[in-house]
Amino acid sequence: MTLPQNMDYFDRAEALSRDEIEALQLERLKHVVEIASRSPFYQERLAEAGVTADSIKSLDDVRRIPYTTKDDLRGQYPYGLTTVPTDELVRLHASSGTTGAPTVIFHTQADLDQWASLMARSMFIAGVRPTDVFQNMAGYGLFTGGLGIHYGAERLGCLTIPAGAGNSKRQIKLIQDFNVSVLHIIPSYALYLVTYLEKEGIDPKTLPVRIALIGAEPHTEEARLRIEELLNVKAYNSYGLSEMNGPGVAFECVHQNGLHVWEDAFITEIVDPETFEPLPEGETGELVMTTLTRQGMPILRYRTKDLTGFLPGDCPCGREHRRLDRIKGRTDDMIIIKGVNIYPMQVEQVLLAIPEVGQNYLIELYSEGYIDQMRVKVELKEEHFVEDMRALGSIQKRISSRLRDELLITPKVEVVQHNSLPKTEGKAQRVSDMRQEVS
Ligand code: ADP
Ligand code: ZN
Repeated sequence: MTLPQNMDYFDRAEALSRDEIEALQLERLKHVVEIASRSPFYQERLAEAGVTADSIKSLDDVRRIPYTTKDDLRGQYPYGLTTVPTDELVRLHASSGTTGAPTVIFHTQADLDQWASLMARSMFIAGVRPTDVFQNMAGYGLFTGGLGIHYGAERLGCLTIPAGAGNSKRQIKLIQDFNVSVLHIIPSYALYLVTYLEKEGIDPKTLPVRIALIGAEPHTEEARLRIEELLNVKAYNSYGLSEMNGPGVAFECVHQNGLHVWEDAFITEIVDPETFEPLPEGETGELVMTTLTRQGMPILRYRTKDLTGFLPGDCPCGREHRRLDRIKGRTDDMIIIKGVNIYPMQVEQVLLAIPEVGQNYLIELYSEGYIDQMRVKVELKEEHFVEDMRALGSIQKRISSRLRDELLITPKVEVVQHNSLPKTEGKAQRVSDMRQEVS
């Protein structure tokens, strides 16, 4: 294997050329089809579609495999998709249930080892090194952002602090006492932490943190910029989902130009969310993923519902694993108001670009008669929430008009005091749906 010039890597797999990646994918696709058909579910699905390991001749043959959906996983609850005896399984995780009942995923020890190494190389490409002290501020438990990242950080060799979610006071104390240089933090919590530091009068520049790994929920470039500026860190986007292990699926490298998806471990497709036809590079569609190395519970062509696309061009880091664009939202996140399609991230993009806007907002949907309406509650920064009604009215108007430019409808805007909207320790709830209730 010829390595790209001077590439500093943690795992040789980072340095694979396109040809090598594709050859490995084909070999592993055949293998995973064979393993998957040990579960009753895939045995039947694959037989119906006439797919066997031997019949896979090229990577395009992946399209002959039927899609797997979240409903399929729920239908096979609890053990229907496992491919090894239960005594070979060593870990269970579940999705956080953002959209309905959770789904469970099982891992063998080999699966956990592979996941830890994917996670370790992900951290490495974002500039994390064994000399770093790493604090994981995601919730531990069934959620993969806890243990998933944890084992990756240990594999990389960082001193790893399993802080878990919440308790900002303790988080800051740990950061200060142990000279923490890298954090994993959910973006909405990172924004909240900014407010907390302000309240406590702690200057982020006095903290030793240089890198924040942010992910697990949709967020905009505007949110990243705020986190970088207000926490005085470099922030790197981390994408994953429990069905594909969790974190360590796709990660930004130091160039911050999209997320390298680890193609030796996953086949990644972008399809039209309505016709399911494959889309060319550069177009946005639904991300579909196949596990290539998982043994205890392989999943084929999983429809993630996440909307993104491949970014064209080479990355200056030299890695040839393709890059995904920032996730724009989920297909089931879309809000339709007055016939216009809106994604919550469009609202965030507008709000966080306005300097007077604070770090939290909430989109409320309600019915007026039979018509769906949208109201955006926006926290203002402390210094801008003044008694002067005229000044407030003018900020409100400005927010409204920026939202109209982006969304093409004019939502009601309500500015509220800083720190007054509900916050969660885990993934933020950006939309509160009160439709049906006539208000
Ligand atoms: P749930 O689907 O119940 O939230 P998971 O905890 O497995 O379960 O979360 C995975 C989902 O979280 C992804 O499908 C995606 O919608 C979202 N997600 C994870 N990381 C990111 C990210 N970096 N950017 C945007 N969305 C993300
Ligand atoms: Zn790169």
